[in-house]
Amino acid sequence: GIIELLQWENPLKHINLWEEGDVNLKSNMRILVTGGAGFIGSHLVDKLMENEKNEVIVADNYFTGCKDNLRKWIGHPRFELIRHGPDAKCIFDKRPGTRLVSFSESGGMCIEPWDILNLEVCDNLQTIKTNVIGTLNMLGLAKRVGARILLTSTSEVYGDPLVHPQPESYWGNVNPIGVRSCYDEGKRVAETLMFDYHRQHGIEIRIARIFNTYGPRMNIDDGRVVSNFIAQALRGEPLTVQKPGTQTRSFCYVSDMVDGLIRLMEGENTGPINIGNPGEFTMTELAETVKELINPGVEINMVENTPDDPRQRKPDITNTKALLGWEPKVKLRDGLPLMEEDFRQRLGVTKKK
Ligand code: UDP
Repeated sequence: GIIELLQWENPLKHINLWEEGDVNLKSNMRILVTGGAGFIGSHLVDKLMENEKNEVIVADNYFTGCKDNLRKWIGHPRFELIRHGPDAKCIFDKRPGTRLVSFSESGGMCIEPWDILNLEVCDNLQTIKTNVIGTLNMLGLAKRVGARILLTSTSEVYGDPLVHPQPESYWGNVNPIGVRSCYDEGKRVAETLMFDYHRQHGIEIRIARIFNTYGPRMNIDDGRVVSNFIAQALRGEPLTVQKPGTQTRSFCYVSDMVDGLIRLMEGENTGPINIGNPGEFTMTELAETVKELINPGVEINMVENTPDDPRQRKPDITNTKALLGWEPKVKLRDGLPLMEEDFRQRLGVTKKK
């Protein structure tokens, strides 16, 4: 999980990115979205840009995000796109003609963590660095400019949960030294940092724990289950269900997710608060649903799994409903075809009549 979002009154004038007159004077909210070129981030940007009073700045290093997701906003007077990672070093190397834009004394920005668990070539250290150092840098920036800051944490903080469904009060069951710990523990430290800055410096914080999310613009090849199954169905390849297939997840359509994030940011509750769809499916059920909706001809194969795979996951959204007035609207069977459309276009697979 994925975007960090920041609002502040006094924008980036210290770095001269936004000259006077550059900006739409009607606007009264400037929002920095780190990881805004990614899957969820770019949908959030679309929604924020619909409001004429918002100016949106995106910082992304394009490790997993993609400029194309934001193409309709490039050149828009209320929009700015910056290539930047969790610390400047990872983008700007020593080279004549490189201008280093330093955002703050405290370093760089926090961007979407490289969701390593799902990449073939893993960089666990990059993941934990992004979460810890990136969040620290963003908190430094928030403190300096008096911003409210939202952290998108993750249901992975619950680890392989022993309580089901998971309420926010559950502390989780996480292996500190396992292969997916860099992500789980990284986000857990990020939550701790948020609360310590809140308590010690009075920073206004919001924490969302986001559950599995799907929809258009998901990376096709990052190994997540919904994107894998849809791409496999469209390519006519067997759907790969990782053993045992009885493990469950609860999938939230991206428009619902964005709606929840905006409500959290605008509301009065710090969180952490779960944002996710309580509709729970086993991976075998998911494969069967994708097969039925997209390509009844494909096979379903059982394949090996990775260690520490959570056996079950489902958000308890009692608090989310009560505090944010939010609940998801899009059912899995309605969301999958919307994602299929996008994947067809990107994979160049046309629908048979
Ligand atoms: N999974 C699967 N087939 C795949 C990819 C994933 O059965 O091709 C399973 C995986 O074992 C896990 C679930 O789907 O139980 C969700 O995996 P994903 O990586 O999408 O999300 P996360 O584990 O982070 O919730």
